Amino acid sequence: MTLPQPAAPGPDAAGPAAGPAEVGPDAAARRELVLREAVRRRLLDPEDALLAAFVDLDGVAASVAALRGAFPAEADVLHAFAAKANCLVPLLSRLRELGMGCEVASPGELAQALAAGFDPARIVLDSPAKTRRELVRALELGVAVNIDSWQELDRVDDLLRAGTSASRLGVRVNPQIGGGTIGAMSTATPTSKFGIPLADEGNAKRLVEAFRARPWLSWIHVHVGSQGCPLDLLAEGVGRAVAFAERVNAELGRRQVTGIDLGGGLSVNFADDTTAPTYADYVGRLRAHAPELFDGRYRVVTEFGRSLLAKNGFTAAYVEYTKVAGGRSIAITHAGAQVATRTVFMPDAWPLRITAHHSSGAAKESGEPVPQDVAGPCCFAGDLLARARPLPPLEPGDLVALLDTGAYYASTHFQYNSLPEPAVHGFTVDAGGAVHFEPLRRAQPVEELIRPVG
Ligand SMILES: *Cc1c(COP(=O)(O)O)cnc(C)c1O
Repeated sequence: MTLPQPAAPGPDAAGPAAGPAEVGPDAAARRELVLREAVRRRLLDPEDALLAAFVDLDGVAASVAALRGAFPAEADVLHAFAAKANCLVPLLSRLRELGMGCEVASPGELAQALAAGFDPARIVLDSPAKTRRELVRALELGVAVNIDSWQELDRVDDLLRAGTSASRLGVRVNPQIGGGTIGAMSTATPTSKFGIPLADEGNAKRLVEAFRARPWLSWIHVHVGSQGCPLDLLAEGVGRAVAFAERVNAELGRRQVTGIDLGGGLSVNFADDTTAPTYADYVGRLRAHAPELFDGRYRVVTEFGRSLLAKNGFTAAYVEYTKVAGGRSIAITHAGAQVATRTVFMPDAWPLRITAHHSSGAAKESGEPVPQDVAGPCCFAGDLLARARPLPPLEPGDLVALLDTGAYYASTHFQYNSLPEPAVHGFTVDAGGAVHFEPLRRAQPVEELIRPVG
């Protein structure tokens, strides 16, 4: 078969105008090629590997190239990958090799970032619940810390009285500009739990004084939200943060705030294979809302997660049985809430595309699409990946692929019914069309679920 290749990473292949990972119409052929190979090599097997996730490592490299290409070459930018989007150590390690830093939000994620070889100076710690011990460790390592609250600021004061740190320290502000289409993903609402609310009575003034009293405080962090936040909302939030940095520097009469961490949050198009919006679109909006960001005054950190990985991954599972109930065709597959928790519990917010394949991995093209429920293996009625979805008629032994699951799927396993974590395989496709797999996570053995206590 002909070789579907993603755009090679590099300035001409994925420049600012092109956007990330222009996989386009070849994406379906590329997935099919990988599925066929996975079946042939028994990475998918109707008894031994009922489901597995796949990450396109060529695509990840192209996405990183697009992100880097979208920012002006002369800007001092550290692109830190948001580990929670997909925290597998070999994948983090690959992202490090591609020049990324890493954003972490828990001791577990910090351990994973360090295991992946990130230089602590290229790690950013964001969490609203950092313990004293967690802060001590970050300050000792020189990991950058974004302080989330007045109380955390007091705690850091205490710790810095005991010794100095190489960490660059910032404050997360909440610009309180409102939310996007998914409430749970919106962090800049007036009552959000994140950051210091900038518009609350007296806070901006108090924060200026906090900077005045702490010459070591030199960054402003803002993360407006994730999926469902429009570009202008994200960019306006960054604009408010930059305006506040300018105010601090003006009132202090010195350029104390030297960096802006603008968070992540670029939405992903789950409807088809097009990447939209692109990083270049976002940088265009940033130039409009926060022009000072790129004129050399500030160092910049970004923290993208979903937009780097979502479209570079898919999950495949076997259909075990089919049935008809009340006139509705239902396919019972091995992928359900355990691997697609958000999709199952919030189907309107997180719909996924699903493709139908023969047991060989070949796309099912014959047969009029019929509305079918694509169900998972979990023992509750709502365990549905899709309701009445028109698909070629599914049969036992077929495969279904859930698309765009490269971010927030492998990292959000839900251990309902003691269903184990499936394997995650990275893959590349070489110029001759040969698929190379490499393990990113092994399938969790059932023995691990019966580990004795103590
Ligand atoms: C989750 C999160 C991100 C990443 O968000 P994406 O939508 O995956 O890009 C970045 N920064 C912070 C502080 C976050 O909580």
